Amino acid sequence: MRLRVRSTSPSAETATYTHTMLSPLFFELAAFILGLLFGSFLNVCISRLPEHRSIAKPRSHCPQCKNTIRWYDNIPLVSWVILRAKCRECGEKISWRYPLVELAVGFLFVECATQYAMDGFNRFYSPYLPHLDPTTSLINDIAVAILGFLLIGLLVMDWQTHILPDAFTIPGIVVGFLLVCTQAIFLPLGAEDIHLTPRRNLRLSSPGSFAAHGNVFLTGTERLVFGRLAAIVGAALILILVRALYKVIRHREGLGLGDVKLLAMIAAFLGFWPAVLSLFLGTVICGFYAAILLARRRADLATQLPLGTFLCIGGLVSALAGEPLIAWYRSLL
Ligand SMILES: [Zn+2]
Repeated sequence: MRLRVRSTSPSAETATYTHTMLSPLFFELAAFILGLLFGSFLNVCISRLPEHRSIAKPRSHCPQCKNTIRWYDNIPLVSWVILRAKCRECGEKISWRYPLVELAVGFLFVECATQYAMDGFNRFYSPYLPHLDPTTSLINDIAVAILGFLLIGLLVMDWQTHILPDAFTIPGIVVGFLLVCTQAIFLPLGAEDIHLTPRRNLRLSSPGSFAAHGNVFLTGTERLVFGRLAAIVGAALILILVRALYKVIRHREGLGLGDVKLLAMIAAFLGFWPAVLSLFLGTVICGFYAAILLARRRADLATQLPLGTFLCIGGLVSALAGEPLIAWYRSLL
């Protein structure tokens, strides 16, 4: 963000205008292109991980004629359009999934970049809001970008193969938790502490002053790290409980362990309540989908549904719009 400088020369003024208007656009365009490249890599993961194939070797090739795809036929989005969704060698159709996944990751990265820019803009006017702190804001946006990337991949993989690979969910849990630890490292001293007797702290004191010491139950760092660990375990326990109940009532497996790890991963990145929100949204959407299938007689009560796909949709909504949704719900109470 740049302040406009009073200038006597109209061309200098226009230049400043152009600069302030163009730079966020370039920032977002860069995020979009980066998103397309990551989306292209995600497509490789989606094709290979459920079959336990390496994502590094061999190079991308057509599944029909096995010819290696040349670099100029492997440009995200562009090549698919130029080739009109067909393999250059054998004419085999290239699925809609490829450009859609690339576009989805592209828009996800644009959204994260915009959010980061917006936080910077808002910080300009209200510098003391803790969630607008530059490090917190950056870590949050990186977390949403990584989580969104993993969720888009898992969404497609569960839909197509009913498999939620550990190669995505388990590193996801670790990365989400490490990001919270990083956030905890940069937490200002005394911020987010939990006090035993909050009333005594009404006196004015700067963060980290000795006035508050001896009264702290959990420091902000402990609260963040232990709180997030509890969130991961709690979210997993909910689904483990549902899984056990289902087994007792229906005498068969109804819920995979992949779904348990997926929800734990969402909790690792976002916390407990956003994970619960994802579970709620996922279950509701899955219920609607099941009702439509039953009404059209395309399924019966024994049909397996890709719950993971719907949990991923819930997770994406939660990551991108969870805060306003939870605030709105609280305002109803
Ligand atoms: Zn081919």
